[in-house]
Amino acid sequence: MSLNKKSVDDINVKGRRVLVRCDFNVPLKGGEITDETRITAALPTIQKLMNDGGKVILCSHLGKVKNGPNEGESLAPVAKRLSEKLGKEVTFVADYHVTGEEATAAVAAMKEGDVVLLQNTRFRGAEETKNGEEFSKELAELADDYVCDAFGSSHRAHASVAGVTKYITEKGGSNVVGYLMQKEIDFLGNAVENPVRPFVAILGGAKVADKLNVISNLLEKCDTLIIGGGMAYTFLKAKGYEIGLSLVDDTKIDYCKEMMEKAEQLGKKLLLPVDSVTIKEFPNPIDAPVDAEVYEVANMPADREGCDIGPKTRELYAEAVKTAKTVVWNGPMGVFENPTLAKGTIAVAEALAETDATTIIGGGDSAAAVNQLGFADKMSHISTGGGASLEFLEGKELPGVVVADDK
Ligand code: AMP
Repeated sequence: MSLNKKSVDDINVKGRRVLVRCDFNVPLKGGEITDETRITAALPTIQKLMNDGGKVILCSHLGKVKNGPNEGESLAPVAKRLSEKLGKEVTFVADYHVTGEEATAAVAAMKEGDVVLLQNTRFRGAEETKNGEEFSKELAELADDYVCDAFGSSHRAHASVAGVTKYITEKGGSNVVGYLMQKEIDFLGNAVENPVRPFVAILGGAKVADKLNVISNLLEKCDTLIIGGGMAYTFLKAKGYEIGLSLVDDTKIDYCKEMMEKAEQLGKKLLLPVDSVTIKEFPNPIDAPVDAEVYEVANMPADREGCDIGPKTRELYAEAVKTAKTVVWNGPMGVFENPTLAKGTIAVAEALAETDATTIIGGGDSAAAVNQLGFADKMSHISTGGGASLEFLEGKELPGVVVADDK
């Protein structure tokens, strides 16, 4: 997959209608936006297109829309907040059909620099169904060019993410990426495909099964692969260690053996925990007090559960990060929701905060951990897309990236 994509800096949008797929999937409570990070993050691309004289037509999904269109998942609150932030009225098309007469009329009335926001794209119920073709076509009819700036949705071949581009191309328009997408491609894509070495990848989280392709792909690309979290115990069992009551996937033991052999053949370092913080009973609620005891992996008792990397492992992993020039991290080192079992995750976050290396945090729990710990501004890049960033790390082609025009 070529990652050399045209961006909003490569097109001239003066007087043209530009459809921008944003990620306005913001949390709402009683109609109020409780976290507007995603709206703020979308502003640079929108402002660039407005300033260049484009007619800016925004679209996004919001929520899962499981039971059909409803006011609770309308984009109306986003239109209001966006108007305030842009200092300009954003015309909201409230029609649950998303495209159609109301949208067409709103777009027809636009002047250069105007902004229209369409209704929640999932209201149409056609993002991923066979009706997606018609929806894609109708979205494309509203615009001359298309900008994708919704990285969190770019692993989905949805109508508003990928389907629409075919029809934009057919009429000679451009399909480009916005600034948010560009940053994700630069860091997650290029840093992994073409890393400054040594390149250290750190993987954690609950299950091996969720990260099979990530492990395999990163092993090929990196110099050192560090494994922590619940998934480390399937590796440790594959090495013949007692793992007590720790999380394990017995169907993936052979896979772990294969990966360890692959590391050896490729001459890559694969680091596993040398000690664990163990508990007798899983806390309920998750942040309840626990009776933590540290054991070396060779002395793990059969009646305890490993829930975090131990102090020696913390040191080992922090040391491995020190000499790195590129570090990618996805997944916590333990049950970080519990303060007693969060030390491994905190140690890794600290090690990344201290290094001069390019540090890239995959979305999801590790991004949340880095934010909570106040280390966000010490990282080179924190991905906004959980699923999408994992697929990037798997080396997969992301539909929303593939369809953008190459430079
Ligand atoms: P993931 O969604 O795969 O990134 O996994 C994140 C979850 O893994 C978090 O909720 C952690 O509590 C959990 N986790 C991490 N390490 C362990 C462990 N050793 N045992 C059980 N759960 C773990």
